[in-house]
Amino acid sequence: VLHLDKYYYVAVAQLEEQFPSKKLVTGSSPVSNTICMKQPFCKYCKLTFDNLNTNQRANHSRWCEKNPKRNYYICTLTKARAAKTNYENQFTKAKREGREVPVSPNKGKVGSFAGKTHSFETKQKMKEKALASSHRRLKKGTLLYKGVLLDSSWELELAKRLDELNVEWLRPDPIKWLDQTGTSHNYFPDFYIPEWDLYLDPKNPQAVRVQQHKLNMLLTQYPNIRILTTLEECKNFKI
Ligand SMILES: [Zn+2]
Repeated sequence: VLHLDKYYYVAVAQLEEQFPSKKLVTGSSPVSNTICMKQPFCKYCKLTFDNLNTNQRANHSRWCEKNPKRNYYICTLTKARAAKTNYENQFTKAKREGREVPVSPNKGKVGSFAGKTHSFETKQKMKEKALASSHRRLKKGTLLYKGVLLDSSWELELAKRLDELNVEWLRPDPIKWLDQTGTSHNYFPDFYIPEWDLYLDPKNPQAVRVQQHKLNMLLTQYPNIRILTTLEECKNFKI
């Protein structure tokens, strides 16, 4: 400790000599006309700080058992923690006192729901709304062809083929189908050809396998849906 003290004061003396007009301070935030230097040891217990960064040095010094202000800091922290547990705002206070709880001005605004979870009832409502929605979900890799959004290269080839055949086609509204429990679902076929009352749906064999059960139910309820399972079928589509 002694020799460290010695080096410390040598360093201080050197800096003072180098910058005679500046005041030497320890700590991390330099203000004008000061030179900051890292104190190499705890000023209370003389622990060497060699492997500690500035924050760790400050933290040790603050909570050092030899620091005379340590008890005061602990008291402050304990009070702050207690205040946090009994934390109240106008809403929690009104609730505790049985008064009418004021409505937050942020209620319903974007961001005001962050960090909370939906109740079971809300989740059910959201699910019902999503199922009832007639919006086609956007997928990545969406292509624009003659003003129509297409989801894949297969769809693009089929659209070109239908144009080649001079057949009018459109993106149909979703159709409703029922699963075995009687729950209604939306299905979004890719193409509808009014002239033939036919739905066309390019779908790769893997997707067909994964959705086999659903597709069986769907095709039973809508015999006028045709699934195209290869790119060739899309390119060379024939009625
Ligand atoms: Zn210390």
